[in-house]
Amino acid sequence: MTTLLPTSTAGSLPKPSWLAEPEKIWSPWALEGEQLIEGKQDALRVSLQEQMLAGIDIVSDGEQTRQHFVTTFIEHLDGVDFEKRETVRIRNRYDASVPSVVGAVSCQKPVFVEDAKFLRQQTNKPIKWALPGPMTMIDTLYDGHYKSREKLAWEFAIILNQEARELEAAGVDIIQFDEPAFNVFFDDVNDWGIATLERAIKGLKCETAVHICYGYGIKANTDWKKTLGSEWRQYEKAFPKLQQSKIDIISLECQNSRVPMDLLELIRGKKVMVGAIDVATNNTETPEEVANTLRTALQFVDADKLYPSTNCGMAPLSRQVARGKLNALSAGAEIVRKELTA
Ligand SMILES: [Zn+2]
Repeated sequence: MTTLLPTSTAGSLPKPSWLAEPEKIWSPWALEGEQLIEGKQDALRVSLQEQMLAGIDIVSDGEQTRQHFVTTFIEHLDGVDFEKRETVRIRNRYDASVPSVVGAVSCQKPVFVEDAKFLRQQTNKPIKWALPGPMTMIDTLYDGHYKSREKLAWEFAIILNQEARELEAAGVDIIQFDEPAFNVFFDDVNDWGIATLERAIKGLKCETAVHICYGYGIKANTDWKKTLGSEWRQYEKAFPKLQQSKIDIISLECQNSRVPMDLLELIRGKKVMVGAIDVATNNTETPEEVANTLRTALQFVDADKLYPSTNCGMAPLSRQVARGKLNALSAGAEIVRKELTA
């Protein structure tokens, strides 16, 4: 990136009401068949336009192409039975009915490549595409086949690598893997979580990112956050190994969180997508608030490696609130950009 402090979003943007019920995460599609394909493309165009108007530098599809950040990918795999559901505990936090792994997992054809090509046609700006990370994928399934979290994660890493290579060939500039599970299973992260993530990026020439957050502003997450005490030091566990990893960019939650910013020192040298927008509130940050978060981050992140971003996805917010937050992100980054180049 030649732009100083290039802005981006960490994940999803609100869906229009004609595509899926708004202000709700994981709401089912309101269309089907050809109409759904067209509806997703139209929503992608709208979402891209919102990002462009706000002056966001690295743009995405706003996740208009998926219902859920993990299961939409898994739906396309062989070896997973969506009819055979079991209740599991997601990220040690809440119970959910999830599909079962019933045989060897594989992917016969790319999942998001056509969508990524469509996005590529719409803009010359750098584009970022999000995929679930291996550890977060296994945490969203019941495994009755491999009976080993690690084994299944390695299998998913190979599948994700195929998908990532196709996305790279389609012109995606940054491939992001969402790994909120990295904030929960610290021993696994260090034993094999980061290693499987590196398997997923093997051979890629485009940039790669890992997004580690405290989740959407849903009750299960806000309740969990209340138990984390006055300082959230979860990142501290994964950072040393991530600093040594081949991942280029680390996307983090910083705005209104209790993450001590000095933890960022542990990943010095990496590019950091600093979450300067809280996605768990309808209050829109002022540009000055965004700038303050970025200024604090600059104590621990070199200016050429700081990427202002949002804490997480904004799918549950109203379109108006999300628009305001995109504008605040852009304006806040501009304030600090001016200070740095003055
Ligand atoms: Zn997130």
